Amino acid sequence: MTFKELGLSEALLKAVADKGYETPSPIQEKAIPRVLEGKDILASAQTGTGKTAGFAMPMIQLLCKTEPQKRRVIRALVLTPTRELAAQVLEDIQTYSKYVDLRSMVIFGGVNQNPQVSMLRSGIDILVATPGRLMDLQNQGFISLRDVEFLVLDEADRMLDMGFLRDIKKIMSMMPDKRQNLLFSATFSREIRTLANGILTNPVTVEATPENTTAELVDQLVYRCDAKRKIELITKLIWDGNWHQVLVFTRTKHGANRLSEKLNKANITAAAIHGNKSQGARTKALAGFKDKEISVLVATDIAARGLDIPLLPYVINFELPNVPEDYVHRIGRTGRAGASGQAISLVSADEIEYVRGIEKLLGMRLESTVIEGFEPTSGPVEGGKKRTKENKPTGTNKPSNSRPANRNQGRGNGTSANGSGNSNSGNSNSGNSNGRNFRRKPRNTSGGNTGGNSRD
Ligand code: AMP
Repeated sequence: MTFKELGLSEALLKAVADKGYETPSPIQEKAIPRVLEGKDILASAQTGTGKTAGFAMPMIQLLCKTEPQKRRVIRALVLTPTRELAAQVLEDIQTYSKYVDLRSMVIFGGVNQNPQVSMLRSGIDILVATPGRLMDLQNQGFISLRDVEFLVLDEADRMLDMGFLRDIKKIMSMMPDKRQNLLFSATFSREIRTLANGILTNPVTVEATPENTTAELVDQLVYRCDAKRKIELITKLIWDGNWHQVLVFTRTKHGANRLSEKLNKANITAAAIHGNKSQGARTKALAGFKDKEISVLVATDIAARGLDIPLLPYVINFELPNVPEDYVHRIGRTGRAGASGQAISLVSADEIEYVRGIEKLLGMRLESTVIEGFEPTSGPVEGGKKRTKENKPTGTNKPSNSRPANRNQGRGNGTSANGSGNSNSGNSNSGNSNGRNFRRKPRNTSGGNTGGNSRD
């Protein structure tokens, strides 16, 4: 299947070619033709499946059917749970709409509203927003939604988790009843189905990722150890493997700050990203990570949701989430766009029950291992085999005493410095059955930017 066969216009095909996409992802194949037909869509797709292009491209094409009015009005609204996701969705929309005459912008909280207000005043066609700031600016009279023809709810499950249901309902009441609605969600709880019933008219159901399955290409490993030695162990893993582009999850904001500080002290560049950080700090950390100035991003679940970091090779669960579905979201950050990846969980005795919950959800056992010198002093070691030189994972093949004085010396070229033989750059795959079998030409990933701040 090609993008052309999906019915996309020349302007969009050109933008897709510029971006380097070769074939549509499964969600794109399924969603694009149905959106172009004008159907409402209920889509099961998590971040990493190419869902943004799945809704953005046909939406842009349909919006172009009508000549823009002299005074532009908001004709499409995309709601997202987090600021980072909003910024990324806008970046994608602007990429796909670069050969058409549509204006788009993003609004979210945590930054001064004045630049957003003046841009809104100048007239825009597509608005990407988080619910809180949207409500705020609407209440102040800066936004009218009465001309909205398209509504996209992106990561609807997370919006409900974050308590946005009331805001969403209010926002719906400000829009005309006649419009096209697209709802994307990684999971389908009863609440999501109720929301969907209230919003969508005769929706087409589109599924890209079977619920709660993890990418086949992600190597999942559990390292058992004592809780108090986790910082030491993670430092060793990152150092010995010479890993860069590592996303680490902690359960709390305080834990994220603490770990990030410890890693920096160990000469591993790290930054924390969570809800208590200012928007400026979050954007800076993410941009630094994408530019490879920062090796490790330490995040909490909510902050990390929706982050688009191409070809991320490593995800580490410093602590396991107590909700098994969050594990699936977390490790969905690696093995993206057809590339392989490693998801490592450091598990102390008190977390064994979480492992069992995750295994039950996934319907498979996670390989459990113990690193020499980090044997747990409590709890079962059942199923765990000792990690020795012979069965060491890829990426940990450097002796631990080989630390450079400064890890970042000589890394100015933006290429992956993982000495593991496990480089993901340009890696492509076409046989993955769970929604990720789409290909892209290798691209320069060193210039990533969320684009959020420059536009508001
Ligand atoms: P998303 O699920 O929308 O967050 O997209 C995940 C990643 O896949 C992003 O980096 C996109 O740029 C990339 N992507 C989207 N569609 C394609 C495609 N057809 N081929 C290759 N990469 C894609």
